Amino acid sequence: MPPNLATIIYLVAAVLFMLSLGGLSRQETAKRGTICGIVGMLLALATSILSDEVGLYGIVALSMVPAALIGGFLAMRVQMTGMPQLVALLHSFVGAAAVLVGFASYLDSGQLEGAALLVHHIEVYLGVGIGAITFTGSIIACLKLHGTMSGKPLLIPGRHFLNLLVLLVTIGLGIWMVATHDQTTGVVLLLIATGLTGLLGVHMVMAIGGADMPVVVSMLNSYSGWAAAAAGFMLGNDLLIITGALVGSSGAILSLIMCRGMNRSLANVVLGGFGTDGSAPTGEGPQGEVISIEPEASAELMQQASSVVIVPGYGMAVAQAQHTLAQVTKLLRDSGVEVRFAIHPVAGRLPGHMNVLLAEAGIPYDIVLEMDEINDDLPDTDVVLVIGANDIVNPSAENDPASPIAGMPVLQVWKSGTVIVMKRSMGTGYAGVGNPLFFNDNTRMLFGDAGASVESMLASLRKE
Ligand code: NDP
Repeated sequence: MPPNLATIIYLVAAVLFMLSLGGLSRQETAKRGTICGIVGMLLALATSILSDEVGLYGIVALSMVPAALIGGFLAMRVQMTGMPQLVALLHSFVGAAAVLVGFASYLDSGQLEGAALLVHHIEVYLGVGIGAITFTGSIIACLKLHGTMSGKPLLIPGRHFLNLLVLLVTIGLGIWMVATHDQTTGVVLLLIATGLTGLLGVHMVMAIGGADMPVVVSMLNSYSGWAAAAAGFMLGNDLLIITGALVGSSGAILSLIMCRGMNRSLANVVLGGFGTDGSAPTGEGPQGEVISIEPEASAELMQQASSVVIVPGYGMAVAQAQHTLAQVTKLLRDSGVEVRFAIHPVAGRLPGHMNVLLAEAGIPYDIVLEMDEINDDLPDTDVVLVIGANDIVNPSAENDPASPIAGMPVLQVWKSGTVIVMKRSMGTGYAGVGNPLFFNDNTRMLFGDAGASVESMLASLRKE
């Protein structure tokens, strides 16, 4: 393919990626955004494969076809609750790819010499380092999100000093690698740096836990973008640089949004973390009597209300209750009740997790509101239905300075007339913090699987 044509197609693909990101920022345009992304990626892949630099199509097919089949199989089989760990795993692949491209590119530096070779070696070193951190950090995040590894932060004494030491040694090795003219020494230094930065990735993600995990997920998303951009520099591929930069910067913006959602600074999360100091959950949560309620009585309360706010959380994803909930919503709205949904920025296990589930169930977008848009209306709301949410409605974040999640803005559901909390037990949420909301006079606990409870509510509403 003529290089000029390839450049034009790459440009079209880059514009499609930007349109994709723009589209994904709103539910109404998310589908269009996804299609733009798919078309852009197909154009990018086809152009790269047909470019003059690529030959040996047998080998290309041998690596691409099984990978595409495995990826397709995994994506089709994954449950919505398994999506966060799948995304983390996919981030790790980008990191691994950057490391491998770095080594290949170092061993085959072509005709480069002088300043160009120096710049190339710096690119390789940075690309391999970012790639290794992304790879190991994402694997640990995947294990934590999957529950294979405890979500609790690992706190090694003097961990900041250790991180700094590793960073300084890595920088020193980098200077040595860039200066050396001996390729074998260079490869050895690159291998050591890969190990050290890989360890840094493990340690950084192990040290963050509990309610801080959303920021880790979005930060690793950003790292995977920068790793791809670094691979683009090493391969001299402009589209990869643009795409990587888009992912890297949007991931960074997402991390900041998540931090704002939790009222914390990025540095505070990376260096500290909710529940990462002496105030980690002790297991002695709030105590008291709770008042239970049945699904039928809950349905009646909602039907008699003039305003209802539904707060979905991770448990709704586990129970897959969104479709039945959509039918309950429709029946209530048809009978004149004002129903709205309140979304906390870190609800579920992925940024936008709840929005995706509600959109999938066909809940109208205009009744789905962000925390900031709805919190002030909660005191005037008759009934709040909390479905499988816990940390995001925990009043101790606001009332108890000693709480490990103190300072995190939450949905102030306790200010409404009656709160119905749907969950299976008195167990804690992801952050492992007890929730005093359950013991309030105006709280009713609806115990059981949220899917079954919403089914019973629906049946009860249909009878009336
Ligand atoms: P939580 O994890 O705080 O609470 C979920 C609740 O759902 C649990 O208390 C559980 O109680 C209940 N539950 C689970 N399964 C069911 C079921 N089948 N039926 C009914 N209830 C069920 O979730 P939230 O959404 O409130 O908060 C999200 C948490 O996850 C925050 O701490 C956030 O920081 C963290 N996080 C968020 C990420 C993101 O990007 N959004 C990423 C990583 C972590 P029980 O067992 O008693 O049923």
